[in-house]
Amino acid sequence: MSNETSSIPSTYDFIAYLLDKNVEEIIPVFDVNCGFRYPYVEEFFHVDSSHTAEILDVLVEHDILDRSLFDKILLCPNCLSANIRTIYICPYCGSKFIVKHRVLEHFACGTLAEEEKFKKNGKLICPKCGVQLKKLNDDYRVAGIWCECTSCGRDFDNPFVQHICLNCNSTFRFEDAIYRNVYLYRISERAKRELKGKFKYLLDLKDALNSLGFECHIKQSITGLTGISHSFDLTVAKSRDERRFLIGIDLAVSGSILDERYIAAIFTKAYDVKCDETILIAMPQVSEDARRLVATYGIYLIEGEDFSKIKEKLISHLRKF
Ligand SMILES: [Zn+2]
Ligand SMILES: [Zn+2]
Ligand SMILES: [Zn+2]
Repeated sequence: MSNETSSIPSTYDFIAYLLDKNVEEIIPVFDVNCGFRYPYVEEFFHVDSSHTAEILDVLVEHDILDRSLFDKILLCPNCLSANIRTIYICPYCGSKFIVKHRVLEHFACGTLAEEEKFKKNGKLICPKCGVQLKKLNDDYRVAGIWCECTSCGRDFDNPFVQHICLNCNSTFRFEDAIYRNVYLYRISERAKRELKGKFKYLLDLKDALNSLGFECHIKQSITGLTGISHSFDLTVAKSRDERRFLIGIDLAVSGSILDERYIAAIFTKAYDVKCDETILIAMPQVSEDARRLVATYGIYLIEGEDFSKIKEKLISHLRKF
């Protein structure tokens, strides 16, 4: 009998991958064609930039990542490209041929006039008192700005803003623009807490089993015969002699409730996904009642206080596969 485990990597494997790279924050990287990208997500899940948002949303929903607002991005409403040019146009005739005029004020004499009237031989000279203007906001300031359209000749204060998509060539205005939130993602406090406790043991076991040629995933979801999806703390698989073996491992660290319902739940999911072997690791141990049940259900039990000894026991038990 062969078991097909889902090929989608589990979200916890993703966290393990990030930590392996010493990454606690997933920072978006600007890309002129597709806006912001998340290269770590693309690389790990083998998706292109258009699919990273839905994956990150799921991770946030499951409280594995937290997100915070990082930036805003302007996108073309037609093709979603971020490769956009901005121009200013005349609000009367729509021409882009407008001239921007500045009105300068000379502090010493109080003269207010268009910049053009100050310009003389590459210098700014006050048309009234003849003194040279030296430093902006020191001896003079820009008192105002106005625009003049060279197509229709009209004057106005502020032009309209228009965007041109350099990908699909469509033009659009602010009203139609897509102006999207861009988030930065961090490994959540909950995920970090799990890392401090049980998760670090799972990572250690996963690495050890991977190096022994087992395929190993943390909290991977597997669909059972009933159609219900289950997950073990570790799902271990190995193919040998055209057979694929599936081993489900749960790890209970002190503080976990190990009553009969817990044991029955392990048995139920192992039965539904057709595990070849089901293992319960209890640190430090289970109760007498639980131990009897574990034996009845045929679950292999490893108990102990010392993690390295537990790891040794698990590895030697799995050598038969
Ligand atoms: Zn002056
Ligand atoms: Zn005009
Ligand atoms: Zn476009």
